[in-house]
Amino acid sequence: MKELRVDSITNDLVILAYDRAKRPLDKVKVEIEEEITNEYEKECPFCRENENLTTEETSRIEINNKWITRSVYNKYPIIDNLNECIYGEHEVIIDTYRHNGSFFNMSYEEYEALFKMYKDRYQALKEDKKIEYITIFKNFLRKAGASLAHPHSQIMSLSLIPPEVKNEISVAKEYYEKNGNCLYENIISNEIKEKKRIIHNGSKFLVIAPYASKYSGEIRIFFKEKIRFEEISEEDIKELSIIVKKLFENIYNVNGYSPFNMCIHTHPLKCSSEKYFNVHIHIIPRKFNFGGFEVGSDMYVSSSEPEALAQKIKFD
Ligand SMILES: [Zn+2]
Ligand SMILES: [Zn+2]
Repeated sequence: MKELRVDSITNDLVILAYDRAKRPLDKVKVEIEEEITNEYEKECPFCRENENLTTEETSRIEINNKWITRSVYNKYPIIDNLNECIYGEHEVIIDTYRHNGSFFNMSYEEYEALFKMYKDRYQALKEDKKIEYITIFKNFLRKAGASLAHPHSQIMSLSLIPPEVKNEISVAKEYYEKNGNCLYENIISNEIKEKKRIIHNGSKFLVIAPYASKYSGEIRIFFKEKIRFEEISEEDIKELSIIVKKLFENIYNVNGYSPFNMCIHTHPLKCSSEKYFNVHIHIIPRKFNFGGFEVGSDMYVSSSEPEALAQKIKFD
């Protein structure tokens, strides 16, 4: 059975072709990296006690006088503040001091410290008046683009708005101007009504398997309230930490120790998009690669059924 769906926040066209999951190729076990077991690695720059191996620290969060998470300048930045055309800072956030830490096994306290760190660095980087946008993302395992095994995230300030976000903003703005209400609020209330794609319905966050996504198996977390990322309260961080911890435990039960990317789509700093755009998080498993059809047509084929995915990993 085939079905054409449109991702309403991006306008991406997605052909759902569930039967393609039965292709012989998909039966071949994806080569997975071995799970790390040691808490400390002598040569690793991100391990606790190896602080002298990193570049300059920009912030740290401690519990009992020991750091849980730190942020440092990226040793190999994608951008720097020397080029006028593409200007910004690029920092690495060490998710946890544990070498064998990962989103699949981090404690509630580790998550809480990490989200606090995201907020702190976001606030610090936005002080630069040349900055238009701040992006927070994460690559886990080599297949998802990670160059170091120790779990880490990245935060980057940019003198421009990335095209992906620009597109989402313009889709949301057009919807608002046409309908007089917010696309994101409508998605949230429709998904709650329809139930079948809900993974978790929290008090401030809604986790869903999106109706359509160019990335097979994507999961989205929507902020229900119209707040900017840097306004997230301590209470909200607590709830988000509980949710993300449980979510990744369930993903682990289904996909195992698997590569993924995470990115947080926040409001651009200088355009007021609060009334029609909600902060949200994309979690993208990297089991599937784009083929020539996707690359050549800008249409996408998904062999993962969002409704089935939601059933498998949902939680109360
Ligand atoms: Zn390490
Ligand atoms: Zn987005």
